[in-house]
Amino acid sequence: MGREAPGDPGLRVSWFLAPLLAALAAGPTAAPAVPADQPLAGKVVVLDAGHQLGNHNFPAEINRPVPAGGFTKPCNTTGTSTDGGYSEATFAWKVTKRLQVKLVKAGATVVLTRKSNSEDRWGPCVDVRGRAGNARGADLKISIHGDGSYAAGAHGFHVIYPPDRAPWTDDIFAASRRLASVTKAALVKGGFDVATYIAGGDGLDERGDLGTLNLSDVPTVMLEAGNMRDRGDAAVMTSPQGQERYARALARAIREMLR
Ligand SMILES: [Zn+2]
Repeated sequence: MGREAPGDPGLRVSWFLAPLLAALAAGPTAAPAVPADQPLAGKVVVLDAGHQLGNHNFPAEINRPVPAGGFTKPCNTTGTSTDGGYSEATFAWKVTKRLQVKLVKAGATVVLTRKSNSEDRWGPCVDVRGRAGNARGADLKISIHGDGSYAAGAHGFHVIYPPDRAPWTDDIFAASRRLASVTKAALVKGGFDVATYIAGGDGLDERGDLGTLNLSDVPTVMLEAGNMRDRGDAAVMTSPQGQERYARALARAIREMLR
């Protein structure tokens, strides 16, 4: 608002209306400023904490076949655990909740595929997990899992991304592969080892058999954060400090991907 023209009452604007009119004139097309401490403002991130804790109590429900990207797969599985009985579901849930706090603090809208970690609940199925970001037009989706290998000395993380496969994931292949690479780099920087026993030794694995990835229309990866059957990985994955390190590394990856 400039100065009012004296003698032209038609242009007079009351002082208290001026800011409002200025805001209206700027209109909805004006890009909101992103505050420095909210680098993820306006971004939507889907966090998919692998497996519900109660899946093993609902065999009929989780064995039901569901669409998985040109074929069917069981709705879900029970997931693995450490030798001490700490479940993959609980590990994934704890890391997801810590990561959620960091992302919300950075301004993101976070969508979770499950709202609890409960023995009394099951699912959602892999098709629901796969599509979880689609309707929202999410910026990316990350599934968090732990692996369970009995191979001697098997430890470390790997990141799985979908292949260039029409009509399912050809549209998200490039961005998902980049997300995988950025996620791997953040975890390495966070002090985690790449897997010694799978994914060719580079910590990156391309797979077309996972409904959770195949049904996504937004860039997506699945993290196998470590081998829960390995004593060293298990110690990190079951401790609050270790879970915090995973969350910190994943938050860094998401900021890097979405900046
Ligand atoms: Zn899993």
